[in-house]
Amino acid sequence: MSPQRQQQIREGKSKILYSTDTPHQIIQFFKDDATAFNALKKGTIKNKGPINNKVSSALFQYLERNGISTHFISQLSEREMLVKKLEIIPVEVVVRNKAAGSICKRLAIEKGQPFHPALVEFFYKSDALGDPLISETHILHFKWANSKELSTMVEKSLQVNELLTAVFKDIGLELIDFKLEFGRDSQGQVVLADEFTADGCRLWDLKTQEPMDKDRFRQDLGNVDEAYFEVSQRLTHYFEAKQ
Ligand code: UDP
Repeated sequence: MSPQRQQQIREGKSKILYSTDTPHQIIQFFKDDATAFNALKKGTIKNKGPINNKVSSALFQYLERNGISTHFISQLSEREMLVKKLEIIPVEVVVRNKAAGSICKRLAIEKGQPFHPALVEFFYKSDALGDPLISETHILHFKWANSKELSTMVEKSLQVNELLTAVFKDIGLELIDFKLEFGRDSQGQVVLADEFTADGCRLWDLKTQEPMDKDRFRQDLGNVDEAYFEVSQRLTHYFEAKQ
């Protein structure tokens, strides 16, 4: 019998976490809710929950096949993903291939400027503080992660960048930047957590340079539902063709 939802552990901006009857396994339930600017802007994106669950499940399985450990166990239903219970490291790792979003404002950099090699930044995961930019020294000083864990997080993030840049390129999209979260599993191993979806990355259409991600929602560009659906369709066809 497949694992069932038990108690609600916590409700986040786009997902709800539930315990299951199996220790060390929890369920991520994907909602249609969308937020931006530290939840100052709120809305819903039609069918985002099922789309993000599908996209993230496909990408996590792809990453696993290519040597990146993730918390993914299985996709249970349209909106539910069974994952390993982790101790989340309160650091968001952002990888940037081209300038967009906060870095443009912060450092007066022109949107679209390429970064070679990719730029890695860290943010402290705190809604109350608005996820401030931090450095490696903060992470080590405050013991959010030790130096070995930090090296693993950076190494894995750059591997994810190489792998997924290639996948998105094959479906006509450019991976501009993305945010990853990591956690420790029951054996203390650092594994990729959370999700990989159009909510947490920037994807520009290679032909038109149009954003195909949450920037459509953030900036009221229209066709938000359609963009999420389009990315999911292209990825589904890509992975089906590979089988
Ligand atoms: N991001 C995210 N969650 C956050 C902050 C950023 O998923 O709390 C993602 C965002 O979608 C983008 C990348 O991380 O793909 C870099 O975001 P940035 O620092 O430019 O901030 P933003 O412009 O999203 O405020």
